[in-house]
Amino acid sequence: MDEFEKLLLKAEKLANEMDEKNEMSLELIKLAEKCDLLNPDVKNLNDFCEKVKEIAKRNQSLALSIVANSMAYFALQLSGYQTGYQGNEKKLSCFALTEPRSGSDIKNLKTTFSEKVEKVIGTKTLVTNAELAEIFAVLAKCESGSVLCICSDCHEVRKLNVSCFRGSGISAVKFDNKAEIVIKDGIKLAMEVLNYSRPAFSAIALGISEKCLEIAINYAKRRKAFGKRISDFQALKFSLADCMADVYSLKCLVEKASYKPDAFKSAVCKLVAAKTVKKVTDTALQVIAGHGLMRGCYVERAYRDAKAFEIGEGTSEVMKLIISREF
Ligand SMILES: Cc1cc2nc3c(=O)[nH]c(=O)nc-3n(C[C@H](O)[C@H](O)[C@H](O)COP(=O)(O)OP(=O)(O)OC[C@H]3O[C@@H](n4cnc5c(N)ncnc54)[C@H](O)[C@@H]3O)c2cc1C
Repeated sequence: MDEFEKLLLKAEKLANEMDEKNEMSLELIKLAEKCDLLNPDVKNLNDFCEKVKEIAKRNQSLALSIVANSMAYFALQLSGYQTGYQGNEKKLSCFALTEPRSGSDIKNLKTTFSEKVEKVIGTKTLVTNAELAEIFAVLAKCESGSVLCICSDCHEVRKLNVSCFRGSGISAVKFDNKAEIVIKDGIKLAMEVLNYSRPAFSAIALGISEKCLEIAINYAKRRKAFGKRISDFQALKFSLADCMADVYSLKCLVEKASYKPDAFKSAVCKLVAAKTVKKVTDTALQVIAGHGLMRGCYVERAYRDAKAFEIGEGTSEVMKLIISREF
């Protein structure tokens, strides 16, 4: 068994516990590091997305942690720090943009970087991985505009009791810390990073959709009602066929967007990913019906996670704003 198979097995085993406790697993993060998943090559996004998708089929929260972690490393790579940060061992990072009073309106940020004392001061929220992160990429404003600061610590982490992606360390974070690396034009860089991370985030939605569809189809073939297999009812058959077409379309989009990401393709991919995963998790839960509502069941967890795709990495409305720049 290779390291990636080991990671998949362990990820599946711990998924429910992470969701129940809303706790990240350090063991899984270390296994991910062994699989070279903590510093993915921004030039090989295709391969990264394929792996993320497989992880999402077992453990959605770990998949989100791996994608959120990639953002700081993508930022470093895109701005010329090819060799990575802090030697060979890759540490878990988080990417802190959102603030209590500004999410979509990123330019309205209040966190500041003081060039005099080289310190970042402010509060970020909804930051994935912050529970265990050792590298903090923080967007801040400064006299000359905006910067992306890389800090090795933060002032305070308060884990949030979220309903989705529990166990991916989503937290509010306060900063009053020295920045070790300061990259100019922070907002522009953050936007560029999002062009790369949106296909990866969409790959999580793809993994969840594929898995839910597989579970629903298998269940429909076994479950009987009114003397028939429920998969023989045309209402269910058409509904599942519709989902299958959507999942296939999303797969093509993730492949295309991750091959050569740009703002338009990545926004389209994320918008469609959000619609697809919502529809497929809803359909799967409807097929499994009452039994699918039990805690500890993949589809129930996926149903809660699905909503987050309309919000995280930019809302669906923001995706439409980006797409509408084309006309
Ligand atoms: C699972 C998950 C993980 C996340 N991880 C991170 C992370 O690691 N780091 C991080 O920084 N953030 C993270 N976030 C936060 C996420 O990026 C923000 O929630 C998102 O950008 C939206 O910001 P907001 O919640 O402040 O909503 P707002 O920006 O306040 O938006 C509220 C509503 O207004 C709409 N709206 C706003 N502006 C417009 C407009 N111009 N036109 C039309 N509608 C508009 C929005 O679409 C939304 O419906 C995460 C969120 C989730 C759900």
